Amino acid sequence: MEMTPARWRATEAYSAEVFGRQDGVLEEARAAAAEAGLPDIAVTPDVGRLLMILASLTRGRLAVEVGTLGGYSGIWLTRGLAPGGRLITIEMDSRHAGVAQEQFDRAGLSDRIEVRIGAALQVLPALAEELGPGSVDVAFIDAAKEEYPEYFALLRPLIAPGGLLLADNVYGAAGSWIDRIDRPGIAAVDRMNRLVAAAPEFEAVAVPIRAGLLIARRTK
Ligand code: SAH
Ligand code: MG
Repeated sequence: MEMTPARWRATEAYSAEVFGRQDGVLEEARAAAAEAGLPDIAVTPDVGRLLMILASLTRGRLAVEVGTLGGYSGIWLTRGLAPGGRLITIEMDSRHAGVAQEQFDRAGLSDRIEVRIGAALQVLPALAEELGPGSVDVAFIDAAKEEYPEYFALLRPLIAPGGLLLADNVYGAAGSWIDRIDRPGIAAVDRMNRLVAAAPEFEAVAVPIRAGLLIARRTK
């Protein structure tokens, strides 16, 4: 059977209907981001739930997110961590970070989430120094698509054995698809996918939910 655009939309709608439940805190986080004029590019509730489930399958002590936006995915991720587990989330736009901080407060998670404001390629090396190798249970990449290979290079040593590297938009950013691989952002995402797939210490696959989610587990 051919996956036509109409079938894809129907599949997304079905996933949203059946697996897209969310509570008032998450609903409010989406509404507040829209109200503040943030771009409508947060993960959908079904993807958020997948992030939570995946985080809950790890040791769940420490997660790192690259690309906070209004905090929507950060709330899901943190809910998947073990009690007391922490999220460090990186955002270069201080307005986005401000909206996210408010939502983390409202969600009762501000004691477990730290927002680091700055460009990821500047923040990550310092963070790597601070956290040390093998310290991160879940890393979620969702910022500048052109920089995905560098994010992977910086996060790679930080992931704990048994930990997960996740990345959003790996089948193409912003609703595009693999047939637009000529675009710089998509080409860079493709490079990262191939680097992760070839990394001997990871087992990786990408699932075509929304814009595609890479799931890579550090096996050694
Ligand atoms: N993870 C969020 C969505 C992130 S959207 C969610 O699903 O809820 C991407 C975010 O990354 C935007 O807020 C953007 O400002 C930020 N960003 C883009 N380039 C960045 C960079 N180089 N460093 C840090 N943040 C960046
Ligand atoms: Mg994304």
